[in-house]
Amino acid sequence: MIPDKQKLTDEEQQKANKWIKDHLKDSFSCPVCRHKDFHLQDTLGIITLFGGGATMLGTGYPTLVMVCKNCAYMMFFSAVMAGVSPAGEEDTSDVK
Ligand SMILES: [Zn+2]
Repeated sequence: MIPDKQKLTDEEQQKANKWIKDHLKDSFSCPVCRHKDFHLQDTLGIITLFGGGATMLGTGYPTLVMVCKNCAYMMFFSAVMAGVSPAGEEDTSDVK
């Protein structure tokens, strides 16, 4: 079970739902089964970064996760671009 503190707040859920509504066309359907009914997860997902031959734990892209209610196909949208998650600070430790 996911602890409540890790779930989106009501305000974040409203932002996420508005962004999805504003950006997905009415004709949008699942790319796998063409179903049109989706569920927006109440937590953010993360796409982990990979570089130098290894997974970079502790960093990644926060995502809104939408799941097709028919076939369970998962779609990811940038939570930063959707205004739900703040942009992280850029790592400049390798900049010379
Ligand atoms: Zn589907």
